[in-house]
Amino acid sequence: MFAPWCPTCRSRMLLGPRRVVSVERGPDGLRAVLRCHCDTLIVWSADVGETPAGPPVPASRGRDVTHQNA
Ligand SMILES: [Zn+2]
Repeated sequence: MFAPWCPTCRSRMLLGPRRVVSVERGPDGLRAVLRCHCDTLIVWSADVGETPAGPPVPASRGRDVTHQNA
């Protein structure tokens, strides 16, 4: 099971192996692309899989980009 953060659901979603779209080996370990129940594609990395609930660091380098939900 995977528990990625879904930005659409604004929650961690428990997604089973049937939700896996693809798995790839990145520089930091395995990454899986999952399809949430809401149809959002989520990239899950083994690296951040055990962090507390919260938005993960995007795969891109835009760490200082913040999204304000005004
Ligand atoms: Zn979702």
